[in-house]
Amino acid sequence: MDRHTDYQRLDENQLNNQVLQLEERYGAYKNRKLKLDMSRGKPCSEQLELSVGMLDILRSDDTLKTVDGSDCLNYGGVDGIPEAKELFAQMLEVGTSEVIIGGNSSLNMMHDAISRAMLHGVYGSESPWGKQQTVKFLCPSPGYDRHFAICELFNIEMIVVDLLKDGPEMDAVEQLVREDDSIKGIWCVPKYSNPDGITYSDETVDRLARMTTKAKDFRIFWDDAYTVHHLTSRPDPLKNMLAACKSAGNPHRAFMFSSTSKITLPGSGVAVLAASEENLNVIRKQISVQTIGPDKINQLRHVRFLSNMEQISEHMNKHAAIINPKFELVLNKLEAELGGKNIASWNKPNGGYFISLNTLDGCAQEVVRLAAQAGVTLTPAGATFPYGKDHRDRNIRIAPTFPALNELETAIDVLCLCVQLASVKKIRA
Ligand code: PLP
Repeated sequence: MDRHTDYQRLDENQLNNQVLQLEERYGAYKNRKLKLDMSRGKPCSEQLELSVGMLDILRSDDTLKTVDGSDCLNYGGVDGIPEAKELFAQMLEVGTSEVIIGGNSSLNMMHDAISRAMLHGVYGSESPWGKQQTVKFLCPSPGYDRHFAICELFNIEMIVVDLLKDGPEMDAVEQLVREDDSIKGIWCVPKYSNPDGITYSDETVDRLARMTTKAKDFRIFWDDAYTVHHLTSRPDPLKNMLAACKSAGNPHRAFMFSSTSKITLPGSGVAVLAASEENLNVIRKQISVQTIGPDKINQLRHVRFLSNMEQISEHMNKHAAIINPKFELVLNKLEAELGGKNIASWNKPNGGYFISLNTLDGCAQEVVRLAAQAGVTLTPAGATFPYGKDHRDRNIRIAPTFPALNELETAIDVLCLCVQLASVKKIRA
């Protein structure tokens, strides 16, 4: 049989033969007692090596003062040191008065932003979100599981909206937010999204910025985690959300987040929140009750190591050189093993950390189970949807960056085999 035969056209005999052949190969993998983990999108050790030099950049006899003369060793600077604001404002294309520099995690900043909104409301709220009977968020899906976990923690009801090639399905989004004042926000990963790798079009950005929302204190949680994480020399362009909101007459609608977790070190990066000055004035006041100041030494280290946007771009090219072969390997294997068989589709991202694989409906959980039995841990099926429920049971997130190339190759071989096995059995049933 041709390598690229359409599985959906096989007769019963051919399907039975395929199952036998695939099960034999699967058994051989099981005997190898593999132990491979493909479950989380972490940088590999060579990527971390690119930034360890940053740890030597400050010495005890250096000037550890900021440009405005304050001492990074001491308390203060609750919203970040001026030079960090300057650098990360450039990265997010906003003004220096429109950023707050945080600790090491943007997820932490997102969690805290929701927590504050629930307890106190946001700039312009008539009452805390949490005082309402119900609070709902729109969750373009597939999406980032940890966003959904924050909603679950705060008992925020999640409404799934389909994520298309150019962003969330905007007709649905516009209708929902126009009619329901308990919908207070939307999660967006606008560039090289996790896991689909898509980037929002200008039109999507504009529609989000100008849509009419029944909740007057609606916020877009704009998680620009992969803003400089390109894999090709033709980066996807992304229209600036803060600017679009200003032009649309909704200047306070966006909370933008990012971090250097996957630029420098995930264990010791710098996170940033950008929003209108009015939003930030409220937030700054609240944060200064929580802390007398963040880790300014780490901010200074980052500024001295990354310097400017050209340097960041050069640094990101080094990341791309390490992880590109991994993405290529996965994409080539998917094409070789699954191409033309009419059982799976996948994206080819221009950046970010993931490849999103869609199986036939009703197969993803079985694929993940089969892979686990053969020693390959994948992100749980359903994790990319609110409440862990992928109604079509078809999305699997592939995270190629962490494993070494040889391990990745084996893991994807196993994955492709499991997709074929689960699909043939599904078609035969
Ligand atoms: N946002 C997205 C979309 C991510 O994929 C990740 C990590 O995988 C994060 C945020 C985590 O960011 P941080 O390390 O800054 O908390």
